[in-house]
Amino acid sequence: GKITFSMIKPDAVANGHTGAILKMINDAGFRIVAMKQARMGAIQAAKFYEIHKERSFFQELIDFMTSGPFVALVLEKDNAVEDFRKLIGATDPQKAAPGTIRNLFAKNIDANAVHGSDSDANAIREASFHFAGLEMFDKDGNCMG
Ligand code: UDP
Ligand code: MG
Repeated sequence: GKITFSMIKPDAVANGHTGAILKMINDAGFRIVAMKQARMGAIQAAKFYEIHKERSFFQELIDFMTSGPFVALVLEKDNAVEDFRKLIGATDPQKAAPGTIRNLFAKNIDANAVHGSDSDANAIREASFHFAGLEMFDKDGNCMG
């Protein structure tokens, strides 16, 4: 697939890492299709993360993701989902490879700096959750909605 969805999470925004993370995304060859800083409430965050609602960390995840603004991103590149997960590194920054975004900017497995979609289908679902189709354009200028 050509599209993935990412968030620069509240910890990374609060710590002033937005610009450095965007530069890494850019340097890795991703094109920004859509971008905005926003804030989620608990109902919205629970809906976004509903696939994790049975996991032990669900409430902490909702509390963390609603703790401050995040930056939502739709990114375009060949093999976008897999290549972006490589760029961000493992969920636990202790296990994230050197030079990955989580290795450089994440403090722990909860506040881990960035989100990246795990499949093409979820990338579409997550991008559509945060952006109207009219806000997303491919590199030829065609509306993706
Ligand atoms: N998370 C957490 N504790 C855990 C595992 C995950 O707080 O033990 C959080 C973390 O912010 C992670 C998110 O829940 O990014 C979603 O978990 P997932 O397993 O989907 O990891 P990811 O796809 O983000 O690498
Ligand atoms: Mg995931």
